Amino acid sequence: METRALGNTGIRVTPVGMGVLTVGRTQLALPVEDGARIVRYAAERSINFFDTAEYYETYPYIARAAECRPYNPPSRTQASVGAAFSRPPLDDAVISSKSLAPDHAGMTRAIEDCRAALSRDVIDIFLLHEIRQAPDFENRAGAWQALVDAKAKGMVRAIGLSTHHVDGARLAAALPDLDVLFPLINHRGLGIRDGDAPGSKEAMAAAIRAASGAGIGVFAMKAFGGGNLAADYMTALGYVSTLSGVTSTMIGMGCEKDVDDAVDYFEGRLAPDYRPDVSLKKMRVDRGDCEGCGACVQRCTSEAIRIDAEGIAVIDHEKCITCGYCAYACPVRALILY
Ligand code: SF4
Ligand code: SF4
Repeated sequence: METRALGNTGIRVTPVGMGVLTVGRTQLALPVEDGARIVRYAAERSINFFDTAEYYETYPYIARAAECRPYNPPSRTQASVGAAFSRPPLDDAVISSKSLAPDHAGMTRAIEDCRAALSRDVIDIFLLHEIRQAPDFENRAGAWQALVDAKAKGMVRAIGLSTHHVDGARLAAALPDLDVLFPLINHRGLGIRDGDAPGSKEAMAAAIRAASGAGIGVFAMKAFGGGNLAADYMTALGYVSTLSGVTSTMIGMGCEKDVDDAVDYFEGRLAPDYRPDVSLKKMRVDRGDCEGCGACVQRCTSEAIRIDAEGIAVIDHEKCITCGYCAYACPVRALILY
């Protein structure tokens, strides 16, 4: 697969990356060996870009995948399987991680933990994870300084922020030390925020263009709106992957089929009317993102969601008919289909 320059970072990435979150504890919770197999498969299929985070607890999957061993498929239905690697399969991989740390000490520790967990002296990209609104950046100024310091010491090649907020993305273009931006965008505008209000895909697209125009490398998340747009695969991926300023699209991948679909899409082999089978997927709540607003409870006519004692939405899978309506009501994209 081709690689592209990620802004002015000097880093080259494939137009699609693997979001490793999907195999981890908060989503599929795959055993390490099984999740590592998916990561290795993605590398073998020439994806060179992998997204992780301190919060996801997915470093063990990447570390395991980086060991030199042949891909070992559960079945031998894929065309390209079983080839032994002549060198460790993730040697050339670009790893992007991030931390929710609020201050300098926390971010410094997060970078050290990542370097140790992945056995890498240098992490390619490290981000302030989830700048919720522009003022959030002010509150985490110490954490940002830790990223600036780590880059100056050569521990990190590029620094930036991830955000679901248009105002967070706008802020990125104005930060002199910022190299990369990881914003949320999809063709339905699911989960986009702007300050305290819903944001639009048009406003986020404009912020992305501005950032890219300033030489910032942009890679996009949630093209499928947390899986809720996955049935409309070609439209969802077509919108984000061709958006002006987006260099790479990060897709959550939980099985070999997810990898095959993504690679085939970006190499032009998927039929224009391709629609993946999403019938076995379940609606779930990302407890880290849920703000307990109750909008989903109001929207669900099947009475399949309630707010639990911790103030977080919880789904009754006996009642849930996987209609997906609740996801459209959620202001923060905390309802995920996988
Ligand atoms: S997917 Fe449909 S049935 Fe299930 S919780 Fe959401 S709104 Fe209710
Ligand atoms: S709508 Fe979203 S944020 Fe609000 S309670 Fe439901 S899952 Fe949580």
